[in-house]
Amino acid sequence: MADCLFCKIVKGEIPAKKIHEDDDTVAFLDINPQAPTHLLVVPRRHIPTLNDLGPDDDALAGKLLRVAAALAKERGLAGRGWRAVLNTNADAGQTVFHIHAHVLGGRRMTWPPG
Ligand code: 5GP
Ligand code: ZN
Repeated sequence: MADCLFCKIVKGEIPAKKIHEDDDTVAFLDINPQAPTHLLVVPRRHIPTLNDLGPDDDALAGKLLRVAAALAKERGLAGRGWRAVLNTNADAGQTVFHIHAHVLGGRRMTWPPG
């Protein structure tokens, strides 16, 4: 999608510290980290929110989570723990409308979330 920030990052039109790329997903460092590790994993394809997933997206949604877990493991977070966050629409605070899984770790998280 032409005016989507994360589509532009996927295509390399806007710089980002990319840490993973495959046929379906791209991961990069969050520009405003909320934890010692704060990565974003996005599908290459523009899908605005989790509300927009259809049955044909099951494999892609699963891959997004598997890549998130693999990157967390790669960074030594698997054992101590980490958090995946997918904010959806206004009440959750979504600001970029291209699905992204936040991978947060390296500090103790609180619950309930803010
Ligand atoms: P949301 O609030 O939509 O769940 O998360 C959007 C995330 O994108 C935020 O954590 C924000 O810091 C991050 N972000 C916004 N603009 C940029 C950017 O230009 N580059 C990178 N790497 N991250 C961004
Ligand atoms: Zn997009």
